[in-house]
Amino acid sequence: MMMHEPLAFVGLRGTLLRDASLARHTTWRVGGNADLLYTPADRDDLAQFVRGLPAALPVTILGLGSNVLVRDGGIRGAVILMHDPGAVLAVADGMIYADAGVASPKLARFAAMHGCADAEFLAGIPGTVGGALAMNAGCYGGQTWRHVARVETLARDGRFNVRTPADFAIGYRSVREPDGEALGEPFTAAWLRFQPGDVATSRARIKALLARRIATQPLSLPNAGSVFRNPPGDHAARLIESCGLKACAIGGARVSELHANFIVNPARRARAADIEALIGHVRSVVKAKTGVVLEPEVRVLGEAP
Ligand SMILES: Cc1cc2nc3c(=O)[nH]c(=O)nc-3n(C[C@H](O)[C@H](O)[C@H](O)COP(=O)(O)OP(=O)(O)OC[C@H]3O[C@@H](n4cnc5c(N)ncnc54)[C@H](O)[C@@H]3O)c2cc1C
Repeated sequence: MMMHEPLAFVGLRGTLLRDASLARHTTWRVGGNADLLYTPADRDDLAQFVRGLPAALPVTILGLGSNVLVRDGGIRGAVILMHDPGAVLAVADGMIYADAGVASPKLARFAAMHGCADAEFLAGIPGTVGGALAMNAGCYGGQTWRHVARVETLARDGRFNVRTPADFAIGYRSVREPDGEALGEPFTAAWLRFQPGDVATSRARIKALLARRIATQPLSLPNAGSVFRNPPGDHAARLIESCGLKACAIGGARVSELHANFIVNPARRARAADIEALIGHVRSVVKAKTGVVLEPEVRVLGEAP
């Protein structure tokens, strides 16, 4: 482990592991080890953990790992796992309050049950609210930040800040600081606003949306959703398919036959290096044959071994 300062954690209530595998915390089921892996008990415990870390130690946040490729060499420093089945989800001041560790599909069902319209799209996005905020996750015309009234973030000194959408540069699958830099502080909670809706209608929309996903996405195999962003005016899946890349494989990784913008790890034998090589191969073939440069939507984290 690349650390020279002793770590002095006092009174932590979460779970701290050293040199712990990240493969089981990513939906691709690949990835090396984290030097430190922390699962906080709640948001105050999270703040205490962050406060106790040496200032120079890198910190990586993971939600449900559904949009990341963690390299085989793992992640140096501390990785914090935010998903928390017990995270707070409530109606407050006519808005929905969600801790960042709430799963997005749970938020979708909660919103539907409370007569909120337009949260249904989150039912098919298998990450956390924090991940949806960080990625500006969306589908079928819905987009996370369209509904954000304010968010809470956590500074490295352990203090919480409340910020509004105006404090961020928000784009297609992208949220950055106003100067274009990567986000400085992790999200710990959000207050979301939705139009009034009808419970039965929202439930029916969720059911239809999930049925459509089951029919069109390889959900039974480890994957990380769409690998590439859609280029303006086109679909990455269409371009990849048009280049004859469906079922193209490197090592244990394969372009899905069902949805060409998905890469699957069917036998759970792929290394992150196989997936990364396949991403590179798809990019170069699509560029050579169509002239379009596909940009990855998945985030590649960590080090090669
Ligand atoms: C089957 C499938 C279908 C999918 N469909 C869609 C879709 O329709 N639309 C869509 O947009 N995405 C889709 N995705 C991708 C993914 O689910 C979303 O991007 C999701 O919002 C990621 O959430 P997560 O908690 O898994 O984030 P992770 O994958 O754990 O992290 C993603 C990024 O967000 C950062 N992050 C996570 N939590 C926080 C936090 N609390 N604060 C700051 N940064 C944080 C991480 O550091 C990382 O950079 C799909 C994925 C799968 C597997």
